[in-house]
Amino acid sequence: MVVGRHRETKAVIDLGAIYHNVAVEVSRLRKGQELFAVVKANAYGHGLLPVARVAKDAGASGFCVALIDEGLALREAGFTEPILILGVNNPLEAVIMAQNDLSVSVGDVSFLDSAAPLLRQSQLKLKVHLALDTGMGRIGFRCSNDLRQALGRLDRYVEEFEFAGLFTHFASADSKETYYFEQQLNNLNEMLKIVPTLPRYVHCANTATAMWHSGSVGNVVRYGIGMYGLNPSGTELTEPKKLRPALELVSQLIAVKQVQKGATIGYGETYLASSDEWIGTIPIGYADGWSRSLQGFSVLVDGQYCEIVGRVCMDQIMVRLPHQFKVGTKVTLIGTNGKNTITAQQVADYVHTIHYEVISALTERVQRVYV
Ligand code: PLP
Repeated sequence: MVVGRHRETKAVIDLGAIYHNVAVEVSRLRKGQELFAVVKANAYGHGLLPVARVAKDAGASGFCVALIDEGLALREAGFTEPILILGVNNPLEAVIMAQNDLSVSVGDVSFLDSAAPLLRQSQLKLKVHLALDTGMGRIGFRCSNDLRQALGRLDRYVEEFEFAGLFTHFASADSKETYYFEQQLNNLNEMLKIVPTLPRYVHCANTATAMWHSGSVGNVVRYGIGMYGLNPSGTELTEPKKLRPALELVSQLIAVKQVQKGATIGYGETYLASSDEWIGTIPIGYADGWSRSLQGFSVLVDGQYCEIVGRVCMDQIMVRLPHQFKVGTKVTLIGTNGKNTITAQQVADYVHTIHYEVISALTERVQRVYV
C-alpha cells in the first residue's frame, strides 16, 4: 500500500494520550493482574509499532493480535513480550508460531491433533491458550466435556504444547443490562472447576469488562479500545476514569469555488445548490475509509460545521462552505477545530456503526503522524 505522504490528509496520533490511557488502566489493575495491549488491525488504525512501543512504556506486559503476521511484525521489531493470537489458526502454521514464540488460541481439539506431529518433527513447543465459548458463539470449547477432551490432549502432547492460558470473551460487557454477562461469567466459573491446575494466564476482560466488571476473574486485561481513548459502550455507560481520544483525522481545503444556484455536485447529481454557494473540496474519500454513507454529515472547516454535499468519491469529498475560504484552510474530520469537536462516535452514529469500525477502517494510505 502506498502512503499519501504528499497529501494534506493525515491521521494525527497522540501517543501521549495512548500512554495516559494505558497508565490509567494499569493503575486500576488488581495485584497480580497484567495488561496486554490489543494491537490487532494496525492497532485499531493507529499504527502497530508506535502504539506497541508506547503501550509497553506505559506498563503493558504483553500484546494481543488477530493474525500470525501481526505477531511476526512485533517480533521482527524486537518485542520479546508474550504475544497472543486471538483468532484460531490453521494447524499447518503451528511451527512458525512456535518458532516465533507466538501463543495461539485453540478452540478445537483437531488443531492439537493436527499440529502435534508437526511440532514433534520440528522439536518445538507451542504455547496454547484454550478458548472457552461461554456465550459469544465465536470460537472455543462450549462445555466442560469438550474442555476435558482438550485438557486430555494437552496431557498427552506434553512435549508439543505448553498449556499457557485459558480465556473467554464476553458478548455484552459494555451494556447496562448485565444478565447475559453474568450468565457467561457463571459458565466460565463452571468450566474452570474442571481444570485441575490453572495455567499461568486466565483471562476474560476486554476494556468494557475491566471498566465495569473489574471484580471478575482473571489475571490479564486484554485492553483494546480504551487504549485508544474511546468508550467501549459508545454512550451507554460512563468510563470510570476519563480517557483521552488518541486519533484526529485532519485535512485541508484543496479547491474552493462558487457555484450558481441550480448547479449539481458530485456523481449522480445528488446535490443541487439551492442558491449561489461556496463549495470546498477535501482530499479524502471512501478509499481512505471515509464511508460513502457520510454524505450529509459534517466536517469542521476552520472550526465551523460544513455539510458534505454530493456523493463521497473514492479520493475526495465536497462540502458546502458558509463563505469563501482560502485553499489550505484546515479541515477536521475527527477531532477538535476551534470551538467545535467531531468525535469518532458521532461519525459512527451517522453511518449506524460503532467507533471501532470508523477508526480501524482508515486505510494505510492515510499517513499516520505521531505527536
Ligand atoms: N479480546 C478479544 C478476544 C477481542 O476480540 C477483542 C477485540 O475485539 C478484545 C479483547 C479487545 O476488546 P476492546 O477493544 O473492546 O477492549
